[in-house]
Amino acid sequence: MTNNLLNAIRWQHFPIGASAAVGHVNLSVGEIGNGGPTALISAGVHGDEGPWGAWAIRKLLERLTPDQLIGTLRIVPVANPLAMEADARNAPLDVLDLNRVFPGDPNGSHTERLAAALVANAVNGADVVIDLHGGGSWCVNAFAFQFAGGEDLAQAFHAPFLVTGPDRSVTLTGYARSQGARVAAIEQGGRSELEEQWAERIATGLRRALGVAGVLTPLEDDMIPAESIAVRPSKVLRPSSGGVFIPQVRASSVGTIVPGGTVLGHLLDPVTQAIIETFEAPFERTALMLLRPFAARIEGGAMTYVVAEPMS
Ligand SMILES: [Zn+2]
Repeated sequence: MTNNLLNAIRWQHFPIGASAAVGHVNLSVGEIGNGGPTALISAGVHGDEGPWGAWAIRKLLERLTPDQLIGTLRIVPVANPLAMEADARNAPLDVLDLNRVFPGDPNGSHTERLAAALVANAVNGADVVIDLHGGGSWCVNAFAFQFAGGEDLAQAFHAPFLVTGPDRSVTLTGYARSQGARVAAIEQGGRSELEEQWAERIATGLRRALGVAGVLTPLEDDMIPAESIAVRPSKVLRPSSGGVFIPQVRASSVGTIVPGGTVLGHLLDPVTQAIIETFEAPFERTALMLLRPFAARIEGGAMTYVVAEPMS
């Protein structure tokens, strides 16, 4: 067996009350190393985004050797197991958004219990928390949320776009931050023909961020300035009714800036095939932070694009 960190992870499993058929599902937390600083890398808080983040964690660990580890690395590749199974944002048992219920409740419903178990067994004691969201089964995206005190962590990802995150203590990173951790939330990648390139990019970002955090030995290129473009608070484009979405820009366009008025996609009546609505780039220079690369049925109000204006 290769002498990499992937093979050296110690796993702990914490049962969370679940459906009648299975009784419990396990929240699994992996750890390697001793002493500080401690970093937590989580993926799959939103189940439909999970496998891509977990893939990046795997790519990171299989390239690391024990001599590169200074502190303790903690991983939660599947933070929301039932949501992953459903390929949905939320677990179907209570349909609560795990990233809105922190610090959770050990006596609450399934998702609240999950949050409480994550707090007790993964977040508490972490000096650094990096939460991998990002494109998943229905979208691709290309940005990082930075938060005060943890800017260097977000910048280490060299994401196409950097946005200052909303300060919400009910999210995993927000709660961790309220407990004194330095945090970043990464929104990159997702299902497309480019998915492995994005997973590679996230793995490299994780390696660089953990070097910056002192959990791993630093990388020599740590000091190379990030090429990310800072953007103003983002705007979500949503259709006013349900229909069939036909994209006009594809996965290779996420992370780019397009001129105002660029046609991004159409919403069609599923029966008549008439164009009901057209999505256009709203700003003179529009940063494409999130888009849907494939044709799909979508509901009225669905998040279809996330766009922003570059700061400069
Ligand atoms: Zn998410």
